[in-house]
Amino acid sequence: MSPTPVIAARQLIKTYGMGDAVVHALAGVDLTVHQGDFVAIMGSSGSGKSTLMNILGCLDVPTTGRYLLDGIDVGGLDEKQLSLVRNRKIGFIFQSFNLVPRTSAIAQVELPLAYAGVKAAERRRRAMAALTMVGLAERAEHKPNELSGGQQQRVAVARALVTSPAMLLADEPTGNLDSHSTKEVLGIVDRLNASGRTVVLITHEDEVAEHAKRVIRLVDGLIISDVRQAPAEGPPPALARALATQGGVR
Ligand code: ADP
Ligand code: MG
Repeated sequence: MSPTPVIAARQLIKTYGMGDAVVHALAGVDLTVHQGDFVAIMGSSGSGKSTLMNILGCLDVPTTGRYLLDGIDVGGLDEKQLSLVRNRKIGFIFQSFNLVPRTSAIAQVELPLAYAGVKAAERRRRAMAALTMVGLAERAEHKPNELSGGQQQRVAVARALVTSPAMLLADEPTGNLDSHSTKEVLGIVDRLNASGRTVVLITHEDEVAEHAKRVIRLVDGLIISDVRQAPAEGPPPALARALATQGGVR
């Protein structure tokens, strides 16, 4: 376990509106997540999940409170610095995939590396390794409209992991998938976590949360429970290590 937590958030408060119309989307959230953990954040609609995800992902800032991402106090950063931190530290996976239309899978996965200034040949190599990791090497030249929903989300997972971020942040990643594709995508997330990647996943589905090591429940912008659970069926440790060394995404 790294001595520096990936997430160290203290008393996060987020309010919307003013006066009588004020909404406390987050009412004082404390959260610490260490490297290698797999956290599911659960809660009913309106409980503050997306607000928390946006803050943890540096897409939004809290009204008050302090947030250190991988040791960096993001509170003092301007928009440009925040986008750099997002690119370097976080791999996002969204419910709606958020792929670029009319663009090949390999080009999508190369994109965050291009932003990071990685040279073309190295970009291609790493993007191909990431696509291989999600089982889509032979679909590298396919565009989103030539891929199933599950395959599109796997491209999005490859794009999220290709920069070797400090954490994967997923908001309802299987919300638009059928049960077969859901299994496939969660299997990949399990493997990534087994190989040491930190995962924070937002979901309202118990079957999805079962994959996590730790389940946090939000009610009205507050954490009401934070429980460690036995891991779901995953690869045995030896296989997980083999996958980890084979991953070769760096
Ligand atoms: P969840 O993702 O769990 O459904 P949200 O984080 O989206 O919850 O919302 C938490 C609360 O904050 C809700 O009451 C929601 O209506 C409110 N809220 C979220 N975003 C905004 C916004 N941009 N303006 C006003 N209220 C908002
Ligand atoms: Mg939401």
